Amino acid sequence: MKDTVIYDYDEFEKVMKEIIKKSISNTYPIIEIDNNWRTECNLPIKHYSIGIGMNHIVFLAAFHGAEIISTEFLIYVMNYIAENEKEFLEVLKDYTLDFIPMVNPEGYIITTSTIRTLIPRNMSATDIEKICNKYRLLYKEDDEEAIKSEITDNIKLKHYQSMFKHATYHDIPDKYKKIKKKIKKLYQRYKIPHGAIVAWCANANGVDLNANTKYNRNLTRIEQGEEIYMSLRYSNIRFSEPGPINCPYDKDKGFLQEKETIFISEFLEKLYNSNKLSAIFNYHSAGGLIDQRPSELEDDLKDRNINLKHKSLNNYMFAKFYQSATYKNLNNKDEKYVILKDSSIIRTLNGLYRVLYPLDMLVELSELGGNPIGPYSNTENYKTIMKSNLEAIKKSISYLKLSNKISDTIYYYIKENNILLNGDEFINKGYELIDEIYERIEEYIQRGECEERIISNIKKILSNG
Ligand SMILES: [Zn+2]
Repeated sequence: MKDTVIYDYDEFEKVMKEIIKKSISNTYPIIEIDNNWRTECNLPIKHYSIGIGMNHIVFLAAFHGAEIISTEFLIYVMNYIAENEKEFLEVLKDYTLDFIPMVNPEGYIITTSTIRTLIPRNMSATDIEKICNKYRLLYKEDDEEAIKSEITDNIKLKHYQSMFKHATYHDIPDKYKKIKKKIKKLYQRYKIPHGAIVAWCANANGVDLNANTKYNRNLTRIEQGEEIYMSLRYSNIRFSEPGPINCPYDKDKGFLQEKETIFISEFLEKLYNSNKLSAIFNYHSAGGLIDQRPSELEDDLKDRNINLKHKSLNNYMFAKFYQSATYKNLNNKDEKYVILKDSSIIRTLNGLYRVLYPLDMLVELSELGGNPIGPYSNTENYKTIMKSNLEAIKKSISYLKLSNKISDTIYYYIKENNILLNGDEFINKGYELIDEIYERIEEYIQRGECEERIISNIKKILSNG
């Protein structure tokens, strides 16, 4: 494996073959599962599985094609497991780990083909850093200009886009001719700013897979013919029509679920219905934070018997375990990823998954921002992201059952003692209690206390106020 990497699609396929080969003589080798998941342009959505457990933990990345660091992170995790299987033997007996490192291969190909116009495969690490840092700074400058100016500029080319202003669909290799043809059509029909192709989050239909849910509030606005633009550094991109980012559907066709989102949703639903889904980790690129709070319930989901309060506490507790192993700086491990706590309505597909399924976390990997190449502007930072999030996965998975037991205990305690609390108050009270006792939990774990003891200790703390 390379040190810092920007894998294009071919390299991704190649490195995955190597990792699979490396794992062949392991107790639990990595298996590529052929689900026959194919995009409209006939690209496979790859699915790898490790372990033999009844319960599944699903890892997703690159819903947004431009968020290539998320794919690389899952490659890194699979490679680590292949090389250090011993550390995972218990986990792999208990769980099956499902890796879907590139939910959106079309977007990934569009983005990486554009990156290759400035960053060829054999470029030195220092040169890659330089280009990516320039890009990241321009991206920031665009944000700052947008914040300062009084009117939103929907026309002017952004500085970071100008770095790639000569790139278009021409740069997509001919072997992906279906993708190329589709993007050409989008260029001819819609207003797509020069260089915007470098951060192509959508698929080749110009539909953003994470926005592609009927609960997305922008659907009505788009149906009514409103022209909607993105904000800040994306403010010259219109997302009410197909394009690089955030468009939930193609209004010429009416609302449709894209193939990619159908496959992933059906997979999760099937696991859930057979009681085999334990957790979902969904990786995105920019922010250095953890999004975890399940959204408010929509009316048509009420017959699924979702207990939002209970689910919210389970999710938050799990996120705390994850967070505790994260760090943003290798030399100072105290600075953790931030956990978002605010309540929200369902806006995205992941937001929907979080309401429907058990434990679900969305992790925004890089604080540096600047999709797609900003996260590569500092090699140390890149390595820290990989290491610390791997640690966080290891820790949260090994305490998954304990995490649920603790949050169940807290849920029933609040339920019995605070009958009058409404939904939000209940959840916030739960968050407060979890924050208060988390350090104690760590102490018990470090002392090597068994689960039963830990739970009985927590009950004592709760009843003593
Ligand atoms: Zn994203």
